[in-house]
Amino acid sequence: MHEMSLAESVLQIIEESARVQNFKHVRLVVLEIGKLAAIEPDAMRFCFDAVSRGTLAEDAQLQIIETPGAGICLACSAEFEMQEQYGLCAVCGSPRLKITAGNHMRVKDLAVE
Ligand SMILES: [Zn+2]
Repeated sequence: MHEMSLAESVLQIIEESARVQNFKHVRLVVLEIGKLAAIEPDAMRFCFDAVSRGTLAEDAQLQIIETPGAGICLACSAEFEMQEQYGLCAVCGSPRLKITAGNHMRVKDLAVE
């Protein structure tokens, strides 16, 4: 389950900001997860709960925003919305697609005290 290592990196980002911005507790974490990032929001919640126990993010609420995926066809340059990581170009049927959006996860916002 790669969500566990992702949850750990989210926690690292939070701890790093805590050092820089000097806060002691996190109430809310807003995560942006691309539709094509192959991250299960429920698994992410579960893993974040587990790794944040005993840290400054313990009991923080995790809010997950799913962002849409988009891609471009390398054969005909058509751009379109993508629902899955792999697919065929809707215009020419080529499988040579490049994902241009929605394959990342990032910490969008933190509510701290
Ligand atoms: Zn195409």
